Amino acid sequence: MDKKRIYLFGDKTADGNEKMKELLGGKGANLAGMCLLGLPVPAGLTITTECCNEYYSNNCQLPSGLMGEVWKGMEVVEKRMNMKYGDPDNPLLVSARSGARTSMPGMMDTVLNIGLCVATLPGMIKKTNNPRFVYDSYRRLIMMYADVVMDKAEGLDKGIRRSLDDMLEAYKEKRGYHSDTDLTADDWKTLAEQFKAKIKEVLGTEFPDDPKVQLEGAIKAVFKSWDGKKAISYRRIEGIPDDWGTAVTVQAMVFGNMGDTSATGVAFTRDPAVGTNVFYGEWLINAQGEDVVAGIRTPNPLNNDTKNEQNKHLHSLQEQMPDVYKELVDIRSTLEKEFTDMLDIEFTIQEHKLYMLQCRVGKRTGTAALNMAMDMLEEKLIDEKTAVKRVAPIQLDELLHPICDPASEKEAKLLCKGLPAGPGAAVGKAVFSAEKAVEWTRRGEKVLLVRKETNPEDVDGMRVSSGILTSLGGMTSHAALVARGWGKCCIVGAGMLDVQEDKRLAYIKGTDIVIKEGDILTLNGTKGHAYQGALKLIESSENPRFQAFMKIVDKFRKMGVRTNADTAEDAAIARSFGAEGIGLFRTEHMFYGKGSDQPLFILRKMILSANDEERQNAINELEPFVRKDMKDTMIAMDGLPVTFRLLDPPLHEFAPQTPDKQEEIAKVLGISVHEVVARVNALHETNPMMGHRGVRLGITYPAITEMQVRALFEATAELLKEGKSPKPEIMVPVTIGGRELIITRATVDKIHSEVCQQFGVDIHFLYGTMIEIPRACFLADRMAKTAEFFSFGTNDLTQMTYGFSRDDASTFLPDYLNKKILDNDPFQTIDPKGVGELITIACERGRKTRPNLKIGICGEQGGDPKSVQFCYKNGLNYVSCSPFRVPIARLAAAQAALE
Ligand code: ADP
Ligand code: MG
Ligand code: MG
Repeated sequence: MDKKRIYLFGDKTADGNEKMKELLGGKGANLAGMCLLGLPVPAGLTITTECCNEYYSNNCQLPSGLMGEVWKGMEVVEKRMNMKYGDPDNPLLVSARSGARTSMPGMMDTVLNIGLCVATLPGMIKKTNNPRFVYDSYRRLIMMYADVVMDKAEGLDKGIRRSLDDMLEAYKEKRGYHSDTDLTADDWKTLAEQFKAKIKEVLGTEFPDDPKVQLEGAIKAVFKSWDGKKAISYRRIEGIPDDWGTAVTVQAMVFGNMGDTSATGVAFTRDPAVGTNVFYGEWLINAQGEDVVAGIRTPNPLNNDTKNEQNKHLHSLQEQMPDVYKELVDIRSTLEKEFTDMLDIEFTIQEHKLYMLQCRVGKRTGTAALNMAMDMLEEKLIDEKTAVKRVAPIQLDELLHPICDPASEKEAKLLCKGLPAGPGAAVGKAVFSAEKAVEWTRRGEKVLLVRKETNPEDVDGMRVSSGILTSLGGMTSHAALVARGWGKCCIVGAGMLDVQEDKRLAYIKGTDIVIKEGDILTLNGTKGHAYQGALKLIESSENPRFQAFMKIVDKFRKMGVRTNADTAEDAAIARSFGAEGIGLFRTEHMFYGKGSDQPLFILRKMILSANDEERQNAINELEPFVRKDMKDTMIAMDGLPVTFRLLDPPLHEFAPQTPDKQEEIAKVLGISVHEVVARVNALHETNPMMGHRGVRLGITYPAITEMQVRALFEATAELLKEGKSPKPEIMVPVTIGGRELIITRATVDKIHSEVCQQFGVDIHFLYGTMIEIPRACFLADRMAKTAEFFSFGTNDLTQMTYGFSRDDASTFLPDYLNKKILDNDPFQTIDPKGVGELITIACERGRKTRPNLKIGICGEQGGDPKSVQFCYKNGLNYVSCSPFRVPIARLAAAQAALE
């Protein structure tokens, strides 16, 4: 038999179930699941995602015979609903809903009220005795259908939705109406006719009056919306494969717009912003589906727990329809027990009767994810393993994110208040369009996206913005939903804000304040406050919940996590985040930035010295600085290993470039400025990244290596004498094979025995190399003869493997990602095909020579969850990353071990 293409649900039974998301999409699978739980769900059928793929491989034609199966399924739906599709007396109306495996909120299309036509209008009116409702539904169908099916799916993109919206606005203005609810049955009827004429005029085709044509068109359009611009864009960001496809659910309509005993709403079974165990939601009387999300009216609070400044004067469902609310509360607990997670639900009330239209695992902030995982663990809803899996590693970032400094917030000038939709703080320049946000970020600016409301077209701009501020919308609006998913600072519904996107400015109502493009603002997304100017931000202090969670995480973790730190301060921070040592200490940091004047000056002397004696003198002068730095860092990491990398950058990088610095050094060296310039020029390299650097410096000038090694061993000896437990490791950078390691090791051994003798101590250390050149990967077996550890320097290894300069890649990498030449930015996530393959080879060959070879990674990718997983699979002993990524890497490593 052919594959089953249609899955029915309704009347407390279903062909599918909630596990079948791949085939039925999240929406279809969970509707089936809710039916099986006995919840009130309008009957319907789901067409599988396989049909969507067939549709695409079939040149955008529906699979043959599919519509026949749909009509057969519709007969069952008709029976269950006791109505008939297209019937003049008792017409059934349906929606055609999109639904992918994972939720892509608002990115694909849905059409409501399908089946209304000239023939069924009178029947509907007779049945409901509510002509206003019927004509309102009719014009909604026309608007949605024209937009989704006739304009977008056909690839015309004539902006018909816009034209129709404008017509509605003009109509309202002419009659002095303020709200959609002011329009009468006759108004909607008149508008519906005008809409149809407009559609013919703009799109060149008639709005179809045949229900059969309507449904088939809608199904095709939903399939088509899988390949819509915004859906593709969203998939890119979220890393969702293109070949998943969407299912289509055709479902009997229920109506929240039938008058004052009808309503529609959305809710979360727990607070998605902070995770508190309260029922959280919004609803609108006499409205249909999307009105809540669209931010057209300020929605009412679901209950007391949901009341806030903006909506406290509005009736809650709890007050208005207590019995329906009670039923919903029961459903909430049934659903949480079944799904053992926080859910996001859609419901509609038709003449006092409650219907469930959707449920899915709800998006949440990092703070909420952590709190819910810990709460549900305590409630025994989930076990420890599940709790660990419930927080996405990247979400921890947000818990460690900066917040507004309370002192500076007190003095700041409050611009406006809104709803706290995404936590943390953000400072940036105001921009009023998604395009601008992308453009300005590309040139290195931090921006805040300020809009009336956001829509799915804005996702790219929302993604790059540091924060989002909207004047409309509630906690379940598009902006809030998307920002929360990303853990991005966001304020919505700031009613005092009058945003004029076309003029690229915003007014603060009742004041003379104007925010212009480029003005600097600060958002406090945790409170919902926006300020003028840049406020001071501070790191959020660690909370005990976080500590407790990380303790559980470490129970399951098998791979080590170290940090990349160049100073004792960084080392201390990383240690407090759980770092188990330093995987990369870069000696050269002491020549940059704060406090670097003196050592840098001595280094310059060394670089510009004309002979060995001059050079040796400068080197000797430098040694105490290096020793102090190394010692302080080993103190901060006492008892834990610290990997010191020998001097890596090309010397030219430190040469004095400005006339005053050149003059200064000329005086000390007793030579002319002219001579200094000549020596600086002699150091010039065409391609310094591949020039005289790393181990190559030590090969040419062994004294430089000797000095660093001596500094390290002396620091270690001193610490041993002080009763501490230093664990130094020496790492040789940019090696190409075994011989450099043998030569350098001889120097190390010589200094080692000198220092041990001098101090009368026994110093243990490890000797190893950084692997960052493809040749080294192939020669790993020989390198492991001398090296006791490898650490993959995946920044350089990626540069060398790709031939991409990391500093220049930003000019073309976006094109490589857009054109799908690359799936990910290889500088963020280890490229498994190329760089990853080299790592695998190096691990295998290295361990063949030395089975207990210690292997780690110290590139930027060490804090990237996907890369951490890769490292775990390849048997690495540890990953090393920047201090703030340490908790992320710990969680990612635990999750990798749980997989
Ligand atoms: P999305 O995936 O964008 O949320 P949905 O398929 O959920 O799209 O539909 C959009 C809106 O229409 C939602 O508010 C939903 O509750 C409502 N809706 C969909 N189908 C029906 C139906 N059969 N009866 C009533 N409302 C519906
Ligand atoms: Mg929905
Ligand atoms: Mg390097």
